[in-house]
Amino acid sequence: MLPPGSTIGILGGGQLGRMLAMAALQLGYRCIAYAPPGDNVAADVCADFFANRWDDARALAAFAAKCDVITWEFENVPLATVAALPPERLACPARALEVAQDRLAEKRFITELGGTPAPHARVASEEDLARALDAIGTPGILKTVREGYDGKGQWRIGSRLEGAALRLPGVHCVYEGFVTYETEFSVILVRAASGEVRFWDSPANHHEGGMLARSILPAGALVEEQVGAARALAEKVAAALGYVGVLCLEFFATRAGPVFNEMAPRVHNSGHWTIEGAATSQFENHIRAICGLPLGGTKTRFASIEMRNIIGEEALAAHQILAEPGEPHLHLYGKREARAGRKMGHVTRVGHGPA
Ligand code: AMP
Repeated sequence: MLPPGSTIGILGGGQLGRMLAMAALQLGYRCIAYAPPGDNVAADVCADFFANRWDDARALAAFAAKCDVITWEFENVPLATVAALPPERLACPARALEVAQDRLAEKRFITELGGTPAPHARVASEEDLARALDAIGTPGILKTVREGYDGKGQWRIGSRLEGAALRLPGVHCVYEGFVTYETEFSVILVRAASGEVRFWDSPANHHEGGMLARSILPAGALVEEQVGAARALAEKVAAALGYVGVLCLEFFATRAGPVFNEMAPRVHNSGHWTIEGAATSQFENHIRAICGLPLGGTKTRFASIEMRNIIGEEALAAHQILAEPGEPHLHLYGKREARAGRKMGHVTRVGHGPA
């Protein structure tokens, strides 16, 4: 168990780091974070912030020297950055990042563990795309293999004609057949270094424009039916990676069973409801896991819960939400610029009646 007063280093400076640091402070730890210069809202709640490039070896060494344990809140931290840190201080093996940074490697890994991803093919050229469209059909989605998030680096292809007209982005891609699903859901778990695993209830997730808009609990009968198989896969993933902390796997609930979409080796937007809605939040349990503290209960505390993201300029008037009935819980991330499509905050509403 890491003693109170120890320092947790966080790679990444966004809202996930900010909420992790807030949970860590409550447990008597201090946090410092490291990310390239930018609107790093984690800095507001960290004792120190290193605004340096990912490849700045001197800054990384200075950061690591101050940390008792190091975690990440962003899955695209370059592997070379993580490799430059003392391995004994990393809370979780870097293999989790390696797999999650590459959509093809991730799908291969999931398939080897018995999971089912969407039908897909690697696309590095126009000929590859033509072959993929022949083999998999349309509609589908072309995604960059690396660095896409919140619907960025993705192109919907409705027909062969549309596919033929598309200008490839010049980086390796994967073409995925469009999955016909009833709903989307996520499995969020926390794993301790001892191998103990706990799951939160799975929310139904609604996306708009490729980006999470809302998470709802309870998720409905179909998710209830499929969550067992999805959890079994998630637990295998966590064990295979020697994972420590919070891990999220996203699924499509289809008539044929759960289809794996993607994984995030970190706390996840679809788990924000756990702050007020569960016995222990994903943020606190992540901190507990990486510091070797006993894990907290994950039970859902309310009959129904809705978490909704606050996007772009909507944040400017977000305080008005506090006047709405039902005691909404507002979280604003303190981002300086309310750009369109940017996650600025979220609001969680809980219902006490029967679900
Ligand atoms: P991703 O960034 O890959 O998680 O994609 C973001 C969102 O786009 C997903 O949560 C889905 O709503 C949608 N999406 C992505 N891939 C597919 C697919 N193969 N079939 C259907 N919907 C998809």
